[in-house]
Amino acid sequence: MPERADREGIDDVVARMARREAAANFRLSTVAEALRLRPEPCPSCRADGWDGHARDWAEELPAVELLPAGEPGGAGPPVLVLLSCELLAPRSLLLVSVAIRRFPAVAGARFETRAVSYARRIGARGDERSVLQAVRRVDRAERWTDGFRAGTATTAGAARSAGDPERGHGPGVALTVPTSTRLRTQDPYGWPGHRSSLAAHFLTPHPRGRLLTRLNDRSLAARLSAARAALTP
Ligand SMILES: [Zn+2]
Repeated sequence: MPERADREGIDDVVARMARREAAANFRLSTVAEALRLRPEPCPSCRADGWDGHARDWAEELPAVELLPAGEPGGAGPPVLVLLSCELLAPRSLLLVSVAIRRFPAVAGARFETRAVSYARRIGARGDERSVLQAVRRVDRAERWTDGFRAGTATTAGAARSAGDPERGHGPGVALTVPTSTRLRTQDPYGWPGHRSSLAAHFLTPHPRGRLLTRLNDRSLAARLSAARAALTP
């Protein structure tokens, strides 16, 4: 028996993910809790570890320490895992800072970007059915943030909703951060490279095929609509 979410139209799933992201982007906060970033090898382009451009980018982020690839981290500030080839908008880290500060129960979790979450779930498959299934799973992995938006989150609730049936519960669970991603260019200081790095995709820095393009269009439309609503008096 499929879950109710599996019968929901994929456009509605993507729109919910977009509203989550927009809500995170419009948070009014200047909190910058200490956070450690760890790159994960990208299964699509094989990028691995930090390069000079990534270090330049990360050094501009507040309260961030870079972990080498493969470094578990041990005791210390929470770890956010990202693909070695992706760039994030700095504001996307704000939600993680707020979570760490308000909900000690999730501070022991490992955070991961939406692109990491999707890459793990899609694996080497690329057919439409697999893409749609992976999107639904990423949506479920982001639900821990929904209480933030509604203003109803509690420590216990955040920890409980962080449980992912596919990945287990409790300490060490990976919490997906609802954030679009950009492909880090090899030519960050030339205009073509800079321009291409501005183009975000809601799910992956390597969108291939019409389905991922269509879903991104849906995501963008929903984010714009949510942003308009947030900015309208
Ligand atoms: Zn890549």
